[in-house]
Amino acid sequence: MILCLVTYWGRMFFITAGYHRYFSHRTYRTSRAFQFVLAFGGSTAAQKGPLWWAGHHRIHHRYTDTIEDPHTPRKGFWWSHVGWILSRDTKDQPESTMKDFAKYPEIRFISKHDWIGPWSLAIACFLIGGWPGLLIGFFLSTVLLWHSTFMINSLAHVFGRRRFDTDDTSRNNALLAVLTMGEGWHNNHHRQASVCRQGLRWYEVDVTWYILALLEKLHIVWGVRRPRTAEDRIDLTEAHDEDFDPDRESAAA
Ligand SMILES: [Zn+2]
Ligand SMILES: [Zn+2]
Repeated sequence: MILCLVTYWGRMFFITAGYHRYFSHRTYRTSRAFQFVLAFGGSTAAQKGPLWWAGHHRIHHRYTDTIEDPHTPRKGFWWSHVGWILSRDTKDQPESTMKDFAKYPEIRFISKHDWIGPWSLAIACFLIGGWPGLLIGFFLSTVLLWHSTFMINSLAHVFGRRRFDTDDTSRNNALLAVLTMGEGWHNNHHRQASVCRQGLRWYEVDVTWYILALLEKLHIVWGVRRPRTAEDRIDLTEAHDEDFDPDRESAAA
């Protein structure tokens, strides 16, 4: 049971901090060694390799809610939740969108052999906890992790509040934010995807951000991208839900 909690939250961190905030959006910088740790850690979640995951995620941001969006809920809940991953159309790695990371041979290797991560973890769980370790610590934890991650694609564009009037259907959802260590503030995220922190107010729990802020203090990561505009900085301190005006943002940028 403890093993299950460790493998769930540990791998969730690698997915949100690694696959999402680092490989997809480059919201901070780090060493080549820690970049590899993030890639390998993320691959243990059995959600394919970093180039596949981040490549499709970049397409999601580029074409959100259109027919080009790989997991738009417009094609139905099941499609956005798991259907799109199992589909033949999304089987290949969208290499062209990931040139910045595809240049590293070790990242290409992890992406190509994306079975190594999950198998290593499964064997480790078995060695630690025997059959219960494998079944609960690896398989149950992996299934829970899948569904929490997939819910961002399916539910975070359907249920929740919209603070910012972004030109997509993204929403903020506190329950999803707790389950996914901060990824539930999806409307905040779509508004400025290059910003590392996703829970903007003090009460918007964003555990991934707390850990990354700590890693920044330890100089393991740096160049962490914070909100750029005056309006965003106000959001961090004041509690008023003003609608976002894209014209002001581009003027300030
Ligand atoms: Zn989205
Ligand atoms: Zn994103």
